[in-house]
Amino acid sequence: MAERTARQPELAFYILKEHLPPMTKIPESALQALRAVADPKSILPEDAWAPHLEEWRGRWPGETPLVLAPGSTEELSRIMAAAYAHGVAVVPQGGNTGLVGGGAAKGEVIITTKRLRKVRDVSPEGFTMTLEAGITLQEAQQEAEKADRLFPLSIGAEGTANIGGVLSTNAGGVHVLRYGNARDLALGLEVVLPDGRIWEGLNALRKNNTGYDLKHLFIGGEGTLGIITAAVLKLYPRPKDHVTAFLAVPSPEHAVKLLSMAQDRSGGQLGSFELMNAGTVDLVLEHFPDLPRPVKERAPWYVLMEFASGQKGILAQVAGGILENAFEEGLVSDGTIATSEAQARALWTIRHNASEAMKNDPSPCVKCDVSVPIASIPAFLRRADETVHGMEPGARIIAFGHMGDGNIHYDILGPKDGPHDAWRARMTDFEHSIHDVVVEFGGSISAEHGIGQLKRDELAERKSPVEMDLMRAIKHAIDPKGLMNPGKLLG
Ligand SMILES: Cc1cc2nc3c(=O)[nH]c(=O)nc-3n(C[C@H](O)[C@H](O)[C@H](O)COP(=O)(O)OP(=O)(O)OC[C@H]3O[C@@H](n4cnc5c(N)ncnc54)[C@H](O)[C@@H]3O)c2cc1C
Repeated sequence: MAERTARQPELAFYILKEHLPPMTKIPESALQALRAVADPKSILPEDAWAPHLEEWRGRWPGETPLVLAPGSTEELSRIMAAAYAHGVAVVPQGGNTGLVGGGAAKGEVIITTKRLRKVRDVSPEGFTMTLEAGITLQEAQQEAEKADRLFPLSIGAEGTANIGGVLSTNAGGVHVLRYGNARDLALGLEVVLPDGRIWEGLNALRKNNTGYDLKHLFIGGEGTLGIITAAVLKLYPRPKDHVTAFLAVPSPEHAVKLLSMAQDRSGGQLGSFELMNAGTVDLVLEHFPDLPRPVKERAPWYVLMEFASGQKGILAQVAGGILENAFEEGLVSDGTIATSEAQARALWTIRHNASEAMKNDPSPCVKCDVSVPIASIPAFLRRADETVHGMEPGARIIAFGHMGDGNIHYDILGPKDGPHDAWRARMTDFEHSIHDVVVEFGGSISAEHGIGQLKRDELAERKSPVEMDLMRAIKHAIDPKGLMNPGKLLG
């Protein structure tokens, strides 16, 4: 394992915050000040708090004295100004599907954006739509579809994750290869700052070269700088034709060659390229036995790829030619090409249910959402497997992810039967060891899920002191009292 050295935080406010005792109780008078400026409808009764205190993986149980769901940007602005005046720390929440503990409260006031649900504008001609933060990602896709346009961001949790949440975590998903991640899909933002001021950055400009592009601080900022209340999002022409194929491939090396060939020959029509090891597909089929086995024989690796085109008719020929060549060249050993939308959906369900299958499994799971340069994926996977099996010969490895973006979810399942205490005690060791391998290959310890609480301490160790200084300086400039989502991302 590479040696990791803890770097000294260099800014005083950071050192102080790192050594703060656990959240002190917020005085009732301060909570009352927040209630006083909120609409009564925005103050959630205690029996409605449960979904805001349960984190998806059950790893960070929440605790709060108050959950507020403001119905407008102006109301949120009043609440934040009161919180600032009384030194009340807040945790923003969207759909609460984040996987790194970023939305979990430890005594702070929770502010959910779930009542910010207006569609402010849809412009098919301008290829934009302006949505409030509490609209779910799936609803956003549907809004685009109504205007015969595509909003391409798509993730497994899209029925619940909100626009504010996906922007704050800079979510990725299955179409990054062609359209980029959340950061690439936002033109403008409206944000309520920690002191209650509203930053009105809702422009729909494709070119706006006027200095620092502030929206990129809040996108991926995980709620540590302000609360996103609305966004102008980019739309695209809706593909009129799809070809979806689930393929058996002998190895990740073969998958890299297939990816390169498909990109090269499809003229930009490759939309998704997902890799899964046999363990992933076995686990999904074990937990969702009604799903069809995608190819006849069990294979060591699988690829789910999708081509999409704006024109009907030509795609089958293009994709068919590529797949035929892939078979001839031995890159693919078997496969299923969807012949209907229902079949394509079933193939995608196998991929989308990977996280759910792991959640349903009784084994404890170490999840590493990492990225490395695409060409290094095979070597990375080999080194990571050697590392894990060196630590625990029987460990089950569930490796899958958005290979077209160099993003692998490298997960390690412990034994099915408990007790799991000894295994759980080693989870951090496994994570760090995999992250060491990631760094060896010039990769990132968080590809798309973010930092939250899960990777906060490691972030400070892995990033350069200069980069950490810049990030802390930005945090201090925008949130000098450290009231926005404390303990997340930077501490
Ligand atoms: C089954 C499953 C599949 C997933 N697949 C993917 C995937 O393919 N790709 C991917 O990238 N992620 C994936 N995720 C992770 C998760 O869905 C994303 O991180 C998502 O973007 C979070 O959105 P949310 O609305 O649930 O945010 P939350 O979980 O509520 O919040 C996430 C973070 O953003 C902050 N936040 C929320 N709303 C705001 C706001 N309006 N302003 C400022 N800060 C805010 C929170 O404080 C927190 O730090 C998956 C999760 C699950 C459960």
